[in-house]
Amino acid sequence: MFRYKHVLLATDLTEHWEHVAECAHDLACKYNAPLSIVHIIDNLPVTESLYGPIIPLEIDLTTHSLASAQNKIFAIAQTLKIDKQRIWIKSGTPRLEIIRIAKENDIDLIVVGSHGRHGFSLLLGSTANSVLHYTVCDVLAVRIH
Ligand code: AMP
Repeated sequence: MFRYKHVLLATDLTEHWEHVAECAHDLACKYNAPLSIVHIIDNLPVTESLYGPIIPLEIDLTTHSLASAQNKIFAIAQTLKIDKQRIWIKSGTPRLEIIRIAKENDIDLIVVGSHGRHGFSLLLGSTANSVLHYTVCDVLAVRIH
């Protein structure tokens, strides 16, 4: 019988993460597969303003974001009973890092939300779309309304 052997939950910590995490967790349990979690701190956080996108240049983004991301991800991992060695918090471009981590760790199912920060106007968010196109393993895009 076919079964997934290693499930990766990619979370951007937006408001719907719990629903996506629940789906990943249920699937991992169903297949008796380990569940891992990845969160990528975007290299360049861009905020919208009245005048268009603004890229803040003079704050230590990585240190600040890392500490806050770590707290949240560790709390999620504890709830989902994910071991520390199966948590990845990296900085970079989310789609590239998710694909790289999946490849390097023999992930056979990546679970993402259909939308996150980058994709509400699209059928599928840009990260979800890239992961779906460029990874070799299966991808579950959990519908976020
Ligand atoms: P997006 O393409 O930004 O609309 O996001 C779609 C989905 O991709 C999200 O629901 C997450 O599952 C995943 N994702 C997006 N950004 C990240 C990130 N920085 N780290 C991990 N997963 C992400």
